[in-house]
Amino acid sequence: MKITDDWIREEGVQTVLHLLTDAGHQGLLVGGCVRNALIGAPVADIDIATDARPEQVMGLAKAVGLKVVPTGIDHGTVTIVMNGEPHEVTTFRRDVSTDGRWATVAFANGIEEDAGRRDFTMNALYADADGRIVDPLNGLPDLQARRVRFVGDADARIREDYLRILRFFRFHAWYGNAAEGMDADALAASATNSSGIETLSRERIGHEMRRLLAAPDPAPAVAAMQATGVLARILPGADAKPLAPLVHLEAPYAPDWLRRLAALGGQDYAEALRLSRDEARRFDILRDGIGNAAGAAELAYRHGADLARDITFLRGAIFETPLVPGWEDAIALGAGATFPLRAADLMPDLSGPALGTRMKELEARWIASGFKLSREQLLA
Ligand code: ATP
Ligand code: MG
Repeated sequence: MKITDDWIREEGVQTVLHLLTDAGHQGLLVGGCVRNALIGAPVADIDIATDARPEQVMGLAKAVGLKVVPTGIDHGTVTIVMNGEPHEVTTFRRDVSTDGRWATVAFANGIEEDAGRRDFTMNALYADADGRIVDPLNGLPDLQARRVRFVGDADARIREDYLRILRFFRFHAWYGNAAEGMDADALAASATNSSGIETLSRERIGHEMRRLLAAPDPAPAVAAMQATGVLARILPGADAKPLAPLVHLEAPYAPDWLRRLAALGGQDYAEALRLSRDEARRFDILRDGIGNAAGAAELAYRHGADLARDITFLRGAIFETPLVPGWEDAIALGAGATFPLRAADLMPDLSGPALGTRMKELEARWIASGFKLSREQLLA
């Protein structure tokens, strides 16, 4: 079992790892990059772990003239910059105490301790500069079977950090075996400890939910969140049911976490997940669009083709109705239409609120005509 991806041969990665090992330390890739490389998933960020202390890592980097920044020195992380690329190097750690939200960490004596504080066995895999796997907890069989399993006792690990409940569902959505079902101990422990989620910050919850809902098919994981009572803690009133049909309808298009969120129903999501202003605006249009009477063409005229398509999928999923044939043409028509009147066309005969009302009436008539009535016909 070896990692043979191109990124592992990059000069920056090799230099940083050898900087550590040539000085007699361990220097290992760890976490998401190892996991994803082994299953052929795209690798985003590369994390490096070492038994060297942060000051030692900084000393080694400086000695060869590399830029190094103490980006998170309190928790053992320094960043070495090579060819303009940052490489995060974190000293092996162990948890000294945990309170369900934050851990106080100390440096660990070895890789076993460092692996032991990680959340899931598939996230506790390491690899050396040649791509050889170092697997202190025997996580590889779990990864190969796509089993998301806690390191140690699920209940105890969740009580150390309740965010791990959400991480469990997130990693299952991305990397779990949908046919095999989810780990029973983890599900039971998630249900027992679901109230602990309320102690977490909304930023952390929002971050995990964004990533969960962006998975290729988050529907089984979200259904399990509902069954365990976790979903109701995060999004009161939410229902996972429309998610599976939505994923089916939207299949030709890229996953979009906010569209999926809009399918769940419930209330006050902007607050619960700390939506940005743009996200909240888009979310409101989606939610309003689901319930109002405008057809696909009108939606596209008012909000653009993308939002109209999102709303079309959402209506289909929530109302369990097939998409109306020709919906794509209707959206293209509406998105390309421009209302031929301007307020000035009705002035000075009308002004103030009366002008606004009349413009709205004429616009409605024009929309009802399939965007066909001309300026002259509208003014007649
Ligand atoms: P992704 O591709 O989503 O970034 P990742 O595995 O890199 O996946 P991160 O959140 O970046 O996930 O965390 C990096 C590693 O740190 C994880 O693989 C895991 O080993 C460990 N880790 C992160 N958060 C926790 C946590 N709350 N509890 C225990 N271990 C954690
Ligand atoms: Mg990561």
